[in-house]
Parts: sequence; structure tokens; C-alpha cells
Amino acid sequence: MSKIDGKLKTESILVHGGQEPDPNTGSIAVPIHQTTAYQFDSTQHAADLFALKQFGNIYVRLQNPTTTVFEKRMALLDGGVGALAAASGMAAVSLAVLNIAQCGDEIIAADSLYGGTYTLFSNTFKKFGIKVHFIKTSDLAGIQKLINEKTKAIYAETLGNPKLDISDIEELAELAHKNGIPLIVDNTLTPYILKPIEYGADIVVYSATKFLCGHGTSLGGVIVDSGKFNWDNGKFPIISAPDESYHGLKFTEAFKPFGNIAYIVKARVNLMRDLGSVISPFNSFLFLQGLETLHLRMERHCENAAKIAEFLRGNSNVAWINYPGFEDNSEYKRARKYLKKYSGSLIGFGIKGGINAGKKFIESLELISHVVNLGDARTLATHPATTTHQQLSKEEQLASGVTEDFIRLSIGIENTEDIIADLDNALKKSQI
Ligand code: PLP
Repeated sequence: MSKIDGKLKTESILVHGGQEPDPNTGSIAVPIHQTTAYQFDSTQHAADLFALKQFGNIYVRLQNPTTTVFEKRMALLDGGVGALAAASGMAAVSLAVLNIAQCGDEIIAADSLYGGTYTLFSNTFKKFGIKVHFIKTSDLAGIQKLINEKTKAIYAETLGNPKLDISDIEELAELAHKNGIPLIVDNTLTPYILKPIEYGADIVVYSATKFLCGHGTSLGGVIVDSGKFNWDNGKFPIISAPDESYHGLKFTEAFKPFGNIAYIVKARVNLMRDLGSVISPFNSFLFLQGLETLHLRMERHCENAAKIAEFLRGNSNVAWINYPGFEDNSEYKRARKYLKKYSGSLIGFGIKGGINAGKKFIESLELISHVVNLGDARTLATHPATTTHQQLSKEEQLASGVTEDFIRLSIGIENTEDIIADLDNALKKSQI
């Protein structure tokens, strides 16, 4: 941590957090350390680094100075004790769960997750012997019933993609903690405007590919550890028991002098070491560029989305609209509690005329891009039923809020008059 990190407000953290001027060159931008390995001072130095007796750079699969600044900045942004960057959002989600769950364990997850996470949990984790129960996060009694001695975490998205349902993080965290398990939340859709750790989340994951990047250029992910969960409560020998690959080192004991960082250290020195889903230093650099303007972009994304939602609500070719900023939306109260004056920048809507009108609409867009991404400076449109959620069954699609006529918009930071003109034109053409 640099001398000023502890004193900075969020917006300043986004510009300066975790960074010291480069000692060799004075470079003001974080240098891209495009290297695979680092020169050791001596054989003793190398041995100490390998035995985790000393922190420092060993090999790029474990750490990289450019990535370290990105990780520190993310930990500072969310109020965590440490962070681990990964090659993608999916890598971050996988590592966050695999760090505490193994064959025979169970997880309880929201039933409205991003399609990729849903498939990871329902298909790949099943093959690993990890059972994931899917349930509405508002069904606290149902979640309690599912929790047993094998349960290792509750997992939810702050703002569900694409259902735009908002999890009550405070209630979920309370329930999780009462049962001695952590709450893991995916905050991909609401970075900066929501800090889940303030509401009791223990681990926060992100697809950095989206708003953290902000320009649709790079794939990456990150895990932030709140440092608040007690991994020594008897339920997590996977972290607290002697680690065979480090000659019996106990993560919870060995790193106590540095704070409660056992979870995030283990994620790096066990899982990242072994699975190798490492971020490239160049992508970390691009995410640092993104973070510098995250607060400005998030505000503009959300303000623009509010205007576009109003336009769509008044359009006769729109069958229905899902936007948490409308008072009659089921998520409105939680939006006010967790997102304050914002409501995110995603909008779901259905087109009159169903799937055929939907196809014509997408094909008539000129300014707005038809892609499977979100959180880009550009406005993006997606048809989840044929893309992100195609691999799910009809029932699973409906649980995720995906109907055939559903179009998801990720509102960018362009002038809203241009976005509205494009939507208006495509909506008209969709009915011809
Ligand atoms: N989490 C959420 C909420 C997402 O929307 C996505 C991707 O769309 C991911 C995780 C996966 O991220 P990535 O595509 O960076 O692997």
C-alpha cells in the first residue's frame, strides 16, 4: 500500500490506489511489466519466496507488478484486505468457489445467475462432485432448509444478469454468517455504485471484462477478499488444515501477522499456481486505465439508462420493460437500498411481435452494437435466448428471466438523443 492509500476517497482510489511512482523511471502511468520471471537476490531469497516466508515476485503465474497494482486498487475500492486478478470473470468465479469447496461439498446459489456461471455450477461443478442448489435469493427460509454440514457458501449476483433482480445482500450475509458460511457475490454489473462488503459480503467477484474495463478491449476477472470471515471456525479445513504442497503450512496461522488474508493468499498460491488461469499484465494495465474513469462512466451509464428506460416505457412497440429504477418494478425498493440514486445501466424489454420482431429490431440497429457483452462505453444489445442463455433449458431460461422476445440493452455513454433515435428507428422497422 502506498503512503496515501489509506487516506483517499473512492474516486481518488480509482485514480491513484495501490500505485507508487515507478522507482526506476519515475513513470506516472503504471508500467506494463511484460515479463515471465523475476531475478532473485540470492539463493536464500529464492528459497524464502518459494516457502512463503517472504512476499515477493517469483513467476508471472503467481504475481506481476502491473497486476499487483490492479489487485491493490480493487481491494481498496471495495474495502477488502486483498485481491486476486484472473484471466476472465469465469476464472475468478471458479477460483472463488474452488478455494473453499471440493468434491462432496455443496453451494447454494441464486437461480437467476448469468448463464455462464449457471452452466459452470450446474454442469462442470457437478462433474467435480460439488453440488449446487439453485434457489431464489429472496427465499430465506428455503435457503436455510438447504443448508447442511456440507454447505460451504451462498452465492449471488448483486444485480442479476439479465433478470435485473437485486439480492438483499444484508439478509443473505446475516443468514450465511448465522450458519458459519461466507456470502460470495458477483458485483460485475454494479462496481463503484455498490460496495458489497459494506453490507456483509465476504468475497466479491467481478468480470473485469465489463465496466471495470469499460471499453470492450480485454478479458479479465478479479476476486476481492473482505478479510472479515473466520476460516478457522472448523468448517473450512480446506484453508485451515496443514497444506501438503507447502510442507504442512497452515494458511490461517502462517499469515495471521498480516491480517485475515488466508483465503486470498491460498487462492493465489494454491489455485492460481496449479490451475494457471492468469491475467496478462497488458490486460491489467488496460483495467487500470478503465478504473481511472470508472466513477464517471458508471454515473453516465446509469443516468443515460434512466432516460432510455423512460423512452422505451412510452413506446407503443414495446410490450414490457424491466428496469429497477421504475417505482412499479419488483426490485425498486432494493435498488434504492443498495444502488442509492442509481439503478444500473441494463434494461430488459420485450418487443411486440415476439421473436421475429426481435430479430428485425436487432438487425435494424445502426449505432447500437449487437454483441454478447455489457459495460462497454458503447450501447450494446443482446438477445439472451439465442446467445448467452442458449445452453439452458426452457425452465432454466425462464428462472433467469429469459423469454424469447427479451432484448437486453447495456446503455453506453453516448449522447442519449442518438441512442433514442437508433432505438426508435429499429423499433419502427421491427413492426414492418
Ligand atoms: N459474471 C457476470 C455477471 C457476467 O455477466 C459475466 C459475463 O458476462 C461473467 C461473470 C463472466 O465473465 P467473463 O466473460 O469475463 O469470463
